[in-house]
Amino acid sequence: MTLILIAEDEHRISAFVQRGLESAGYSTEVVDDGARALERALDGDVDLVLLDVGLPTMDGFEVLRHIRGQGSSIPVIMLTARGSTRDTVEGLDAGASDYVAKPFKFDEVLARVRSRLRENVSTGATAIAYGDVSLDILARRATVTGREVDLSAREFALAEQFLRNPGQVLSREQLLSRVWGMNFDPGSNVVDVYVRYLRGKFGHDRISTVRGAGYRWE
Ligand code: CA
Repeated sequence: MTLILIAEDEHRISAFVQRGLESAGYSTEVVDDGARALERALDGDVDLVLLDVGLPTMDGFEVLRHIRGQGSSIPVIMLTARGSTRDTVEGLDAGASDYVAKPFKFDEVLARVRSRLRENVSTGATAIAYGDVSLDILARRATVTGREVDLSAREFALAEQFLRNPGQVLSREQLLSRVWGMNFDPGSNVVDVYVRYLRGKFGHDRISTVRGAGYRWE
């Protein structure tokens, strides 16, 4: 049975999420502090973590960094404060799979949980190559003509989208939903910022800006 760890120190919220997930057929476990969340997330029997940002002993970002630092790719959905772009960006940079902003409706949580669990099962191909660029999906390594390029988790996910669709124009909205997995504020410039990072690492000419449409990997 799928086990979901709920790391949340507000009892009202954890009880509400727990009730919903259990009636949707999942097993759950609730922890109310960061150190304990980290310990349980790394134990191996947990399938997905719902991780609150504000937790005692160790905050959610720190927990997440430790999880990723240990090489775990367990799906982690952050519970952030609504409207806090800083929370969102920091969480995603630290390797979160997704986020749900508080206050949320249970259905939003359930939709994210289902989609992240599905993704984790159907990862598909383990390596993608186009021209002299290749990505090893499992090892999360990128190389250009055999030289390794150091990418953050989010840069890697964006590069993956481009390499799966070379020569095609990808709109900002497509990239936001595929890489950031959510209805990010459409006014956000996060895609542009990350395209700039990738250009810096792979070479400026690899990604063209198609005015009014999006970006294309050349
Ligand atoms: Ca909290």
